[in-house]
Amino acid sequence: MDTITITMNGREVSGQQGMTILDLARESGIDIPTLCHDPWLQPVGACRICLVEDERRGVLLASCVTPIMQGMVINTESPRVQERRKTIVELMLASHPDSCLVCDKGNRCSLRRIASEMGIGLLSLQKIPQPAEIKEVNPFIERDMSKCILCAKCIRADQELVVEGALDYIHRGFTARPSTFADAPLEKSECTFCGTCVALCPTGALIEKDRPHRITAQKAVDTVCPFCGCGCGISLEVRGNHVVRSIPSQNSSVNKGAICVKGSYGYDFINSPERLTTPLLKVEDEFQEVSWDAALATVAYELTKAKENSGPNSLALLGSSKCTNEENYLLQWFARMVIGTNNIDNGSRLYSSAGLVGLGSSIGFPGTTNPLCDIEQSEVILVIGADPTTSAPLVGYAIKRAVRQKNAKLLLVDPRQAKLYPFAHQWLRPKLATDVVLINGMAKMIVDKCLIDQEHVDRRTDNFEAFRESLRQYTPEYIEAETGIPASDVQQAAWSFAEATQASIVYGNGVTQHIGGSSTVTALANLAMLTGNIGRRHGGIYALQRDCNAQGACDMGALPNFLPGYQTITDDQARKRFEELWGTPVPTNPGLTVVEMLNQAKDGTVKAMYIVGENPVEGFPNSTLVREALANLDFLVVQDMFMTPTTKLANVILPATSFAEKDGSFTNFEGRVQNVRKAIEPIGNSLPDSEIVIRLAAQMGHAIRFSSPQQVNEEIKASVPLYQGTTYSSEAIGQIQQDRFDSSKIGTRRLYKGQFPNGFERFTTTCYTPQEQSSQNGYAFELVVGTTLYQFGSGVRISKSPRLNRFRAHSFVEICKSDAQQLGIEDGDDVRITSRTDSLVSPAIVSDTVPQGMLYMPMASNSCNAASLFSVQLDPQSKTPSFKSCAVKIERIGSHG
Ligand code: SF4
Repeated sequence: MDTITITMNGREVSGQQGMTILDLARESGIDIPTLCHDPWLQPVGACRICLVEDERRGVLLASCVTPIMQGMVINTESPRVQERRKTIVELMLASHPDSCLVCDKGNRCSLRRIASEMGIGLLSLQKIPQPAEIKEVNPFIERDMSKCILCAKCIRADQELVVEGALDYIHRGFTARPSTFADAPLEKSECTFCGTCVALCPTGALIEKDRPHRITAQKAVDTVCPFCGCGCGISLEVRGNHVVRSIPSQNSSVNKGAICVKGSYGYDFINSPERLTTPLLKVEDEFQEVSWDAALATVAYELTKAKENSGPNSLALLGSSKCTNEENYLLQWFARMVIGTNNIDNGSRLYSSAGLVGLGSSIGFPGTTNPLCDIEQSEVILVIGADPTTSAPLVGYAIKRAVRQKNAKLLLVDPRQAKLYPFAHQWLRPKLATDVVLINGMAKMIVDKCLIDQEHVDRRTDNFEAFRESLRQYTPEYIEAETGIPASDVQQAAWSFAEATQASIVYGNGVTQHIGGSSTVTALANLAMLTGNIGRRHGGIYALQRDCNAQGACDMGALPNFLPGYQTITDDQARKRFEELWGTPVPTNPGLTVVEMLNQAKDGTVKAMYIVGENPVEGFPNSTLVREALANLDFLVVQDMFMTPTTKLANVILPATSFAEKDGSFTNFEGRVQNVRKAIEPIGNSLPDSEIVIRLAAQMGHAIRFSSPQQVNEEIKASVPLYQGTTYSSEAIGQIQQDRFDSSKIGTRRLYKGQFPNGFERFTTTCYTPQEQSSQNGYAFELVVGTTLYQFGSGVRISKSPRLNRFRAHSFVEICKSDAQQLGIEDGDDVRITSRTDSLVSPAIVSDTVPQGMLYMPMASNSCNAASLFSVQLDPQSKTPSFKSCAVKIERIGSHG
């Protein structure tokens, strides 16, 4: 790239072609004030405060939109520049209300700061106020357009970053201002309350509503969002021991200035008065507060007793996909070294273990292959079994940007009309649980049309011939009969995918939470290999993760069959390495997955359990069965932040801190390891999970040499090949700890470092077992469950975040018009949904989003939990319970009261 040298304020500075004067000034340490500029947005030159003088031509230029040119002579502080900037700011102030003293923006107002720095005092201009009504009733955002300076940051954030299209200018001339379509309140617009615009607004025109602590922050700490697997960087603003605001971190290369509603407003749970603040011991069915020493002594005694009486495999541990890497590493160490069992699993078993099998056996690593930014360079994006706009909003934003801004083609595979539907070039609606037929069918059509990437297949893969042979049955007629999709549509999708230079696959729980989930993930890996979309710069597989550290919990070996770094428990060499490190033999037999633990608790084989940060009673299928299993244990200890239906069954409850009260790291769905940093001190007597495990191990006679998460991290780096090269710094704000992406060879990262099975990607044949027709056994409908933007998991943290909780969906059941008509159900009627295990009542929504014979409802809403409707059926390969759909009956029981 050409280097361009210019003179700025009398000194020569050089930049690259395409840089603006403002870019180069900032890079050179020269401050130019701006109000409309943001590094993540396209520059528009709206505020003109960044004026600089071109001394050669004698003209004033908006530095944010003017590219540098060889030989320019720029003065950023000439008297003419200063005078013009001051006039512009004075004009803005002339139409700005004098409400600084009561404005929530306070000292964070850029207009006020810039005016002060320019020495603007009393205005000589006549004030022309712009009165504006504040109409919103939503709990998140308040708009006061009397304070708007027309910088258009909110409009650009909406259109460029999150691509919602909720905001644009209305009116013209002096009355022009950003607003929604038809000037509707935000809650009646497309707005998803992500908060990106609020974080970017330079004045008090957009402010956060109903903050639990309306006080000014003393400091800001960069850390990682504790909700979904995207791993957005957030900046927690803190006063005393309260988190008072959460905004997107300026240092995060994951979210690049954007955020979603949970990242912005989900932090309320941290300082909730309902937090558990002291250990509790159950005595005659009542919980009593006890000291940490007493609680840990009881836990140590009971776990030791169970181990001595019934053997180490009578104990089981459930780690958490919400806890840090260091905590999960310690937990698996505790299970293997202190207890002596491999009975350790984590919450991601419920939604992403199919990737362990499907991707692990094909490409050698059970996770996402490329960085998120590569999606935006893909020509074709296949989204299957996922609605990222609600489950992984940052991925949703990236897909929408790819379609709208880069002309990517979106192939959407979902029986229900997902929120991405308006962006889709093709929408395929397979019958439930037939994804594997669709994907194998696409593969067959690609092979038949000779559209495979022959060079990639020849050089990088093995077992292709067996795979090709296995596709024989997927004729157009068979595909159409099984999936219900016209073969010509499948063919169109297949050829689009194969003909793209770079194509990406994004899959989610809709794929993995079925009995055949592992086969479908394997089929997706085959499709990517067939078309050469593994290891390419911008094509790859994106395995969405529900929780913030689902990837890390698995990487750390909180799994019954893997040691840290997916080193198999049956591998003698791997065990030996850890035995040398830990100084004790590692148990040799694979342990139990979580559903197996619960089954064995029910039948009395597992006697004691230690559950950390999970709520299986509400979050697992068949709540009744889970409750019975846990109640049947001799001893249950649960570590959590809040009282939940699971903690209520415990003999001892250990109060854990939130993510905001501890140091450590999370690994996001891309495989990016990021710092989690302590922003406040632990609430009450709660302790970080790592400290609890260390103290408990000491009680059980196993002194641990770790005294901090940093030390645990050092051992992780030494023992987990994937994490070598990470750095741990609790000082550096928002430091990205490790890009597993080799920046010199983006897209190739670990995949071509000798980690393929047999040194190659391996085509693996898959089988398809048709699902039993629900109509044949009296349950005429298939209920599909999902999530909404305002809820998360089993809902514990959201229910303690009052603003999100207000917007959290009340239960509803979607039914299509023809089915509703046949059953006499009208929009809003109460209906009873009955499965083989339970029944519940919910209002119905009659819509076109679901096909005939299918119902849809959110998994965990304010009013009911659909988990109870599910029986426990496992994917035989991943042992993931089928938790996406189940057979039900529906009946109208009356008008909604
Ligand atoms: Fe948090 Fe996920 Fe939202 Fe990012 S997209 S702010 S990680 S919930």
